[in-house]
Amino acid sequence: SIPLTFFAGIGGASSQGILVKGSNYLETLSEVKTVVFDKTGTITKGNFEVSGVHHNEKQDKEILEYAALAECHSSHPISLSLKKAFGKHIDSNLVTDVEEIGGNGITATVKGKKVAVGNDKLMDRLGIKYIPCTHPGTIVHVAINDVYEGHILITDEVKPNAKEAISSLKNSGVKKTVMLTGDAKKIAEKVASDVGVDEVKSELLPADKVSRVEELLKQQSDKDRLAFVGDGINDAPVLTRADIGIAMGALGSDAAIEAADIVLMDDDPVKISKAIRISRKCMRIVY
Ligand code: ADP
Ligand code: MG
Repeated sequence: SIPLTFFAGIGGASSQGILVKGSNYLETLSEVKTVVFDKTGTITKGNFEVSGVHHNEKQDKEILEYAALAECHSSHPISLSLKKAFGKHIDSNLVTDVEEIGGNGITATVKGKKVAVGNDKLMDRLGIKYIPCTHPGTIVHVAINDVYEGHILITDEVKPNAKEAISSLKNSGVKKTVMLTGDAKKIAEKVASDVGVDEVKSELLPADKVSRVEELLKQQSDKDRLAFVGDGINDAPVLTRADIGIAMGALGSDAAIEAADIVLMDDDPVKISKAIRISRKCMRIVY
């Protein structure tokens, strides 16, 4: 039978917008010593501002239009931001052969043309020569019919309380905080140092995140547990692999919410340490 205290713990957590899917997760949570974060939507807001479109020959508006159309079916934060910046109705009948490549971007046929929208890795993969960009932000390259057309510059903001979220984890006995991201090294390191995580790994594919979590799991002592916190479509495998998976509920994808053991309804990263404190209190009462 499940001690009543667990119900109180789950209830107390839920009143704070922390959805715990089962009493066993409270026990695991109370032993968490490593917290691994995704970047986009977890540590940052995940609503990118389009700050510029830089091109060779095609008009800015046209590049943005092709990008937004290619992204028509994606719910990635970058996709949502591009569609918002485009601002017009998107006719998905104009788009076929959509392929979303995790940690890379999108390829699709738009109005009969082959369109690629994504990062350096996507361009490398397709053998398209691009102009490297040193701007501190996330770069979205656009190629049409295998010709590089230019890039869209987008910037995301660190959540106002992300730094507090990390320091409160440290104050509640978490030994290690890690950020794993598919984004470029430069932007990843800036975000990591702004919020104070102990370790950062960038330019990772979704499968690389799983491998890194597996290494961290091996490194920890028997009694310690590892939590992964993420938001996106690509995070489901790593959410499952961690001892405990925590999903951001408001921005998060259905797949991530499904795969998670705990859902933070309002995407507030400070709730992670709150959840750990609630779980510890609960375990002290049980034993
Ligand atoms: P994070 O680890 O920060 O959550 P992701 O793994 O979701 O990031 O994506 C990593 C990178 O892959 C992004 O920064 C972007 O460059 C590229 N990318 C992924 N999905 C898309 C998309 N739908 N459109 C454009 N670029 C994308
Ligand atoms: Mg993500």
